[in-house]
Amino acid sequence: MHRILIKNGIIVPMDGNNRTIENKALLIEENGIAAIDSAETLVKKHDINQTIDAGGKVVMPGIVNCHAHQGWTSLCRGIAEDMTVEDYIFRLTEPLIEHVVTDEDMQCFAYLDCVEMLKFGNTCISEFETFSDDTASAIMESGIRGVLGVNMTDADWDFSDPNALPNYNPDLKKKNLDKAIKFYDIWQGKNDGRISVRFSNNVPLLCSPELLTETKILAKERGIGVNTHINAEPMETEAYQLMYQKTGVEFISDVGYLDENTNLVHMIYTKDREIDIVKETNAYMIHCPFEMGKRGACAPLGKMYAADLNMALGSDWLMMDPFEQMRFAAVLARVNSGDALLKNAYDFLEMFTIKAAKALDLDDKIGSLEIGKLADIILVDFDQPHIVPMNSHYDPVTNLVYNVHGSDVSMVIIDGEIVVENGKVNTIDEQKAMEDANIRSEAVFNKFKSLDTNL
Ligand SMILES: [Zn+2]
Repeated sequence: MHRILIKNGIIVPMDGNNRTIENKALLIEENGIAAIDSAETLVKKHDINQTIDAGGKVVMPGIVNCHAHQGWTSLCRGIAEDMTVEDYIFRLTEPLIEHVVTDEDMQCFAYLDCVEMLKFGNTCISEFETFSDDTASAIMESGIRGVLGVNMTDADWDFSDPNALPNYNPDLKKKNLDKAIKFYDIWQGKNDGRISVRFSNNVPLLCSPELLTETKILAKERGIGVNTHINAEPMETEAYQLMYQKTGVEFISDVGYLDENTNLVHMIYTKDREIDIVKETNAYMIHCPFEMGKRGACAPLGKMYAADLNMALGSDWLMMDPFEQMRFAAVLARVNSGDALLKNAYDFLEMFTIKAAKALDLDDKIGSLEIGKLADIILVDFDQPHIVPMNSHYDPVTNLVYNVHGSDVSMVIIDGEIVVENGKVNTIDEQKAMEDANIRSEAVFNKFKSLDTNL
């Protein structure tokens, strides 16, 4: 049996108690957490294959990132920044999907996105629209725990006209459901269970009621969850009223889409009665704070926290540093509510660890450092000028949320495997991933600019 001992670190277990464990070591046996005890006791009891000195470091559960789009970050960051959401969908990403990028392009960008995710301490990502089997392969190869999803819609939509309402196409519905089922059959449980699948519907507006109902039924039959973006832009919320005389959340609730295995991403333009429905159904709001703020809008977070909604954090695209994201979550909560004491550091860290694992129905396996759970662990280097002093007067959890950067993550362990060591990824050639992404993005945007896109 392979054993790794992590000693001398400050353990932040995220086990439901806001506490730290000092003067104890953590023992990994194969892919699981076997013990938390004094180093001397553990060394006496067990043959240890590898000892990691975590002096000056915090040992915490890996970040569980509930919303990502692997491939799109490295392609579009620096470009889709000072744009409205309507502009980047209609003028950038949809034309790219329709006319430019190939499966090989997206795989290339997914490699780099995985490098970034891993280096910043994300050990599990819920991927919304896995572009193809090639993208899934890149995610698997990186060693990250991936909850993958094929994006389903059945709308024939004229993307050149932002005001057009969608028409639904039964052939497209069948094609996309078949594709998602095939994807599930191939990928569910791959890489010793590190890869799992959920079904995704891009936006309910782009899905017929029948597609949403069938997606949920098929997911339930397989015991998996579903994801959708909702209330992400004003045009979307207006369209539900025009088409159904309902809010978006009322619409998806009425078609049977909502329960505790439903992840609702964004929920920015959300009405009070929608908060009540989400609360009643135990669905999860996946809050992507940085992307939300960039859109110049804010969900009614004060009301949402007061209602005690199930909530977890995601990075969405373009910026994947979870520590920055937690700070934005804190700032937005306070700006929205006017309450400087609304939630604290531990609450925000829970939303990226144990509560995020719960949102993905993985909380029996990951999200906290507890005996019997899988060894998804990160080490964060606190011996840094922007964090020191760190002594008995200071709280590591507070520092994790307010002062740490993703680049302070020095080691990442997933399923007992050391994937990042001294800040370097072991599974993917980082340099090559960057060079390849540079070359391919040049070609992609050369082709894109030859189209008549007005970007
Ligand atoms: Zn998204």
